[in-house]
Amino acid sequence: MLTFSHLPALTGGTLLQAPADAAAPVLHLLLDSRRMAQAAGTLFVALRGPHHDGHQYVPELYQRGVRLFLIDKAEIVPGALANYPEAGFVLVPDSLVALQRIAAEHRARFDIPVVGITGSNGKTIVKEWLAQLLSPDELICRSPRSYNSQVGVPLSVWELRPAHTLGIFEAGISERGEMARLARVVQPTLGIFTNLGSAHDAGFNSHAEKAAEKMQLFAGVDTLFYCRDHTEVHAAAEQLPARVQRFSWSRRSATDAQVQVQLGPGADPQQPLAQVQYLGQTHTFTLPFADEPSVENALHCVALLLWRGLPAAELQRRLLRLQPVAMRLEMKQAIHDCYILDDTYNNDLAGLDLALDALRRQPRRGRRTLILSDLLESGLPAAELYQQVAQLARQHNVQRLLAVGSEISQHQGLLQAAVADAQFFADTDALLNWFHPDHFRHETILVKGARRFGFEQVVAAFQRKIHGTVLEVNLDALVHNLNYYRARLQPNTRLMVMVKAFAYGSGSYEVANLLEFHRVDYLAVAYTDEGVQLREHGISLPIMVMNPSPDSFALLRQYHLEPEIYSFARLREYLMAAQSGPLPPIHLKLDTGMRRLGFDEADLDELLPLLQQHAGTLRVASALTHLAGADEEQHNSFSHRQLAAFQRMAARLEAALGHAVIKHALNSPGIMRFPEAQLDMVRLGIGLYGVEAAGLDPAALRAVSTLRTTVSQLKTLPAGETVGYGRRGEAADHNRRIATLAIGYADGYDRRFSRGVGAVIIRGQRAPIIGNVCMDMCMVDVTEVPDVQEGDTAVVFGDELPLNELAARIGTIPYELLTNVSERVKRVFISEQ
Ligand SMILES: *Cc1c(COP(=O)(O)O)cnc(C)c1O
Repeated sequence: MLTFSHLPALTGGTLLQAPADAAAPVLHLLLDSRRMAQAAGTLFVALRGPHHDGHQYVPELYQRGVRLFLIDKAEIVPGALANYPEAGFVLVPDSLVALQRIAAEHRARFDIPVVGITGSNGKTIVKEWLAQLLSPDELICRSPRSYNSQVGVPLSVWELRPAHTLGIFEAGISERGEMARLARVVQPTLGIFTNLGSAHDAGFNSHAEKAAEKMQLFAGVDTLFYCRDHTEVHAAAEQLPARVQRFSWSRRSATDAQVQVQLGPGADPQQPLAQVQYLGQTHTFTLPFADEPSVENALHCVALLLWRGLPAAELQRRLLRLQPVAMRLEMKQAIHDCYILDDTYNNDLAGLDLALDALRRQPRRGRRTLILSDLLESGLPAAELYQQVAQLARQHNVQRLLAVGSEISQHQGLLQAAVADAQFFADTDALLNWFHPDHFRHETILVKGARRFGFEQVVAAFQRKIHGTVLEVNLDALVHNLNYYRARLQPNTRLMVMVKAFAYGSGSYEVANLLEFHRVDYLAVAYTDEGVQLREHGISLPIMVMNPSPDSFALLRQYHLEPEIYSFARLREYLMAAQSGPLPPIHLKLDTGMRRLGFDEADLDELLPLLQQHAGTLRVASALTHLAGADEEQHNSFSHRQLAAFQRMAARLEAALGHAVIKHALNSPGIMRFPEAQLDMVRLGIGLYGVEAAGLDPAALRAVSTLRTTVSQLKTLPAGETVGYGRRGEAADHNRRIATLAIGYADGYDRRFSRGVGAVIIRGQRAPIIGNVCMDMCMVDVTEVPDVQEGDTAVVFGDELPLNELAARIGTIPYELLTNVSERVKRVFISEQ
């Protein structure tokens, strides 16, 4: 067992202070204070990244009971280890290196085969499929999701337990020098090199260099598996030490490959046949998926399993049971104000821990419910396993458990002790028979089941009532955009994010929750109600309300929402309200040229004395102005005049108040175009949602929202007939195929898209709108789109159909299209994290 006392020697660090119990084992590695579930036995490793510094969280974690710390910045225990009397600190030169050494030492304790997987694509799928194929014979420890980075790999390897008989870990890199470090952590005995694509090219001079770098994972393996047809991979494999056995397969009859594959069509076009020659014998396998990447991924697995000597008939049986790998966690809106976290990705303990962590981070009020099947492949005796499940459920505050399966049902006692409301079902059918929408209300529900339990049916039961149109919000894209803007900020500039108008249509609680998790400084909404809703859903960040009505001042107080004050009338009303008790601080809006809301420069003579007079009861938190033409170069000199006026006015304000206030002026395009004017804070809006309004770096942001609908019906329209109200779909001289879509102007699909102005994407092709957009429906011409079926998905906007383009077609701006998506359209939030 690793104990704290081992750490200095193991990491090359210095012991600054021994903890009360230096011989206590290190049971958990914690890198992110937000993921702390259990303090006892936790070693916090303080890492530094471009957007955060783990050292900042040492005091908070100490308060929460963590006692073991590994740091690489001595000054963080400012002056006083005495502040942390019970804690142990080891100071290392580099925390990440130390983390990797700890994991490497842990890995070295296990004398079992370990498969290392790298390559440009397919790592996670090959890992998951290999685990599916080998699980009847082995107890497997594998990387959760795609934990394949410098940080993810050590955490994955840390999960190895004595009962495991096999490890499968993936490793991914983006720069030179990284793979050797991962190789020391994984210490693979077998390797799979999937392929070499163009991803992450930036860090390398050539493909050959990239191949050689990745190949370093395999310098110490006994056997390397790869596809001989990838010539750069083959060339790099030739450079490995002679001791390494090379086991390759080929589809091009390369005579030096051990396995020869010929692919042909099967009886079912979705299931091709692979004729495989190995050791003088020919086997024919039916592959479960037909697309090229899946074929390659499956063949990597076939090669390794043949090498292991699995009989061909058994291999075929297992291949046909392979399941597609869902790469992401989806959060779906469901019946009765419930949200479903759909995670059927894997169901081992590490995966459960991650998913429960995601559940716990949902700040929504209401119950946290877990629907869980028997856990497979844990490597633990059942009693111990369900003891740990019970402990996880307790740590993550699960309030209701619906457990499915005979094994989990045998451990009712353990689970009932951890979760007050626990119900047990013999199998999925029993759960579905019991299922009724009325059993659920205002809950966040994690659905997590082993594949053979078929929990898709459970998710479908929750969603039965959902309208055919959904807005998919990609939370990873949102974080990408957030980080893009953050990287442009000076270190001391704070970030306010605008979540007004339902977070520009994206769903305010979910977006606000994510922003709180990513520690932005402020949120802003337009109206008091929006702020109240955020508080009701557990958001605790400071919130500015831009246009609070006087009758909502009591709510401002109750929910601690900070108003923007822009006129004497509002100020006097607020001062009046303040007489009946303290009110939240205010944000002063200064009008420098927008001519919308705010105090003019000439107003200051009257305003400043008033503020001075009430300095005791009214705190000014910030001063802001808004640029009228931040997105357009032609207004540059006007913008500069606005900024200068703002600085002048703010200086007078600060002089009168006798203290500094937070000053902020820039919106999203402003952040791009006036980096010198960031001042103390910026206000990010549309950019977060994926639209780069300044037009300077259009490819930098990821589209966050995809609006999709479905084809309700297909019709053949004979030549000469019209479509829809007012017979506006012009008659044509040939027969046409028309698809009716389940979206109309009441869903937010603008009527100006009528009659060919708009188009949607079906089966990868554009289909123009025909006739007028109706209230709940519209029609598109799919004559040119082959194979359209009823029930097909149509993309209304998203990556393939950018908002900028659509907005231009109807003479509006992307803001309007985004915010128009009606609240009756269900939001689905997706994330791979
Ligand atoms: C909406 C808004 C913003 C954000 O503008 P974007 O162009 O969406 O970045 C900033 N400041 C104020 C006052 C706003 O109303």
